[in-house]
Amino acid sequence: MRTDGSNPIREAARILAERRNAVALTGAGISVESGIPSFRGAQGMWAKYDPAEYATLHAFVLSPRKVWEMLSEMVSVCGGAEPNAAHQGMAALEKMGVLRAVITQNVDGLHQAAGSRRVIEYHGNMETLVCISCWKRYPTRKRWTPGTVPLCDCGEILKPDVVLFGEPIPWLAQEQAEEEARTCGVLVVIGTSAQVSPACDIPRIAKESGAVVIEINPEPTSLTATVTDIHLPGIASEVLRRLIDELSLADETFPSIPSGH
Ligand code: NAD
Ligand code: ZN
Repeated sequence: MRTDGSNPIREAARILAERRNAVALTGAGISVESGIPSFRGAQGMWAKYDPAEYATLHAFVLSPRKVWEMLSEMVSVCGGAEPNAAHQGMAALEKMGVLRAVITQNVDGLHQAAGSRRVIEYHGNMETLVCISCWKRYPTRKRWTPGTVPLCDCGEILKPDVVLFGEPIPWLAQEQAEEEARTCGVLVVIGTSAQVSPACDIPRIAKESGAVVIEINPEPTSLTATVTDIHLPGIASEVLRRLIDELSLADETFPSIPSGH
């Protein structure tokens, strides 16, 4: 797709308003403003925990107590976090009828907490623990306390119901995400480095099916020069605020946006 490049925010708003069938793909970057570190980068979790040692199914099976050092930190940080203005902006876009679904790689539940209704959790979530021996599930808050390793009634160590490296994507989430990618008019990719497979295939599927790909990220990614049509550099809350302001100006039929947006 060709864009004139003179005002990318206005161009993105025009396309979103015209098509009104956008889907978003979000990653760790959208939750950074809620105080949850992303995985990559100097402040990221991988600077502290080597993913090969802490984030694979193999590592969990071999030494679950060690992997729980990293998981405990994730559960505590996610459990204490509140949605930020970017999550609220996504919920506002859904209410406006511009965005129909969010596919998220995040496991923090913050899109739902902000009021987004259709959220596809591609990598599961931290709210549930699962036993990889007998498959019994438990709410995390009932089974885990800081400093402990949660146990199943059968005696095994429980795993958060999130996708570790080496685990398949939950079947329904993968089906729904691919269907959304194939049928959306616009894919808005926010705060993901697009390096985790197969989530990184979603933008390509959308693009090959005719969607315009808009990317919100302060840094360029592997998508920016290849798949992205419009790159909006900046932090998610700020870019979404400007995008929503522009949408409201461009189309008076949109319902008014809650204050803060
Ligand atoms: P990533 O850490 O690989 O990349 C984060 C991206 O966000 C980077 O491209 C960075 O430039 C961008 N970014 C940083 N701050 C931003 C901001 N304020 N606004 C917009 N963009 C910003 O994250 P990923 O691609 O999502 O892959 C990491 C994997 O780890 C995911 O699969 C996810 O499941 C998991 N994870 C989840 C959480 C969470 O649930 N909040 C946190 C960390 C990691
Ligand atoms: Zn069990």
